[in-house]
Amino acid sequence: MIQTRLHARFPSVRFISQAEFNEYCRIAQPALDTRYLHETSLTTREEAVVQLGTCAPCLRRAAFTSETARWEKLADGRRVPEWSGALTCDCEDALGNRDRALLHFALSQAGLRGWTRLLLFGPDVPASRRLQAEAGQTVRVASLQPGGDGPEDFRLPVPDASCHLAIAADYLHRVPPLDAALSELRRVLAPGGSLVLTVPFRYRAARTTTRANLPAPGGRLPAEYRDAVHEIGWDVLDMLRAAGFRQADVHSYWSNELGYLGSFNMLLHAVV
Ligand SMILES: [Zn+2]
Repeated sequence: MIQTRLHARFPSVRFISQAEFNEYCRIAQPALDTRYLHETSLTTREEAVVQLGTCAPCLRRAAFTSETARWEKLADGRRVPEWSGALTCDCEDALGNRDRALLHFALSQAGLRGWTRLLLFGPDVPASRRLQAEAGQTVRVASLQPGGDGPEDFRLPVPDASCHLAIAADYLHRVPPLDAALSELRRVLAPGGSLVLTVPFRYRAARTTTRANLPAPGGRLPAEYRDAVHEIGWDVLDMLRAAGFRQADVHSYWSNELGYLGSFNMLLHAVV
């Protein structure tokens, strides 16, 4: 039996360049100001804020909880939320804003289906279990492996064109050989396949900057990268195109109903 699933539209605006984004900000400023006022109205002195809405991946009514303890405090005692990590759903996986949006995007925009061969690249995130549950087969690769012919070569232990969808959640900014990682992700995707990335995206920065403290050439990658080595800017779209993706864009998403608050929540998508 063929099952079809409905998905809520992913509430995003799509950009292929910083110039497009800047133009959007100029034109949409009144709407962006209204969002900001709405978010400001939710500041509170309470321990948590609970808002009713819809969980998009589950298509059900949900309550989103935002703890206030770690929020920034205003002079009058109210707290300003850090929305991207807040708005935890009352579903089984208790996904927050960012993770729920990643899952929603994978289902509604990036073709995650019951037959999908999925590559999850990087350490687990809260959305990992559900991403894997929605896919057919899942390959999990925690990090790039040194390999190939030279000291600068890194490999994913995955055959060419063997995956339909690759997801690197909150990880690529911590992988020193960024170009190699993008090339490898491109290599393992089948024609028409998608790559979805979440990173701390510097939407004011034209270029990605990389810290000098990279591993020495030929040195082994550390087991974990706790600190960001790249501050990812808009040129990551050029890097994706240079790696062989025919389309690369940034999605900026926001929805009060779906619990995606915060200014400029960004998610990157590239298609082979
Ligand atoms: Zn849910």
